Amino acid sequence: MDLASANLPTEISAVAAIEWATNEFGADLTLLCSGQDAVLVDLALTVDPTIELTFIDTGFHFNETIETMLAIAARYRPNLRVVVPWRHLDGVGGPGFCCSDHKVEQLDHALAGRRAWLSGLRRADGPSRSEAPQIEVDRRGLVKINPMVAWTDAELADYERQHDVIVNPLRARGYPSIGCRPCTSPSADGEDPRAGRWPGSDKTECGLHL
Ligand code: SF4
Repeated sequence: MDLASANLPTEISAVAAIEWATNEFGADLTLLCSGQDAVLVDLALTVDPTIELTFIDTGFHFNETIETMLAIAARYRPNLRVVVPWRHLDGVGGPGFCCSDHKVEQLDHALAGRRAWLSGLRRADGPSRSEAPQIEVDRRGLVKINPMVAWTDAELADYERQHDVIVNPLRARGYPSIGCRPCTSPSADGEDPRAGRWPGSDKTECGLHL
């Protein structure tokens, strides 16, 4: 889609962004679920319970992340699609190659035939995301909607409390950002919330949101 000519709304509420996406794209829309929490799932399935959820099972997730996804599946009975790489090459070629193979390529597969996707990305996730728009066109030409992009950590926590949302238990153990087990450490208070991702390297993003 050409962003300049697209009929995209300016920044709106998270629910309004999801409603716009479901009206605009219908079944050609998928929601990328990371297993970190179910806030976006809860918001989106309240708007439309038939929205497809996509979970990329890299093979390297924490047990807590898989348990979070199982809890989401049990509570919402969603239209859930689990994408699994055909091979697992733990550490081969370094994190850049590993993420490209186990995450980015899998998302490419998952989005084939779709026109748009929903993501839980927020500007408060860290400096690398501080300028993220709510609606954009990704490198594939698909529309990417980040409904909660402007939400603060406090707003996220409020929603989790008020709606008894499923949250990955690692969050309470010092992991504000949860990726794969070999590449994720806790972050200290006051640190960039994504400081625990690929610690000791200058890598800050797996590539799903680039
Ligand atoms: S986060 Fe780590 S284990 Fe997961 S795909 Fe990327 S490099 Fe591989």
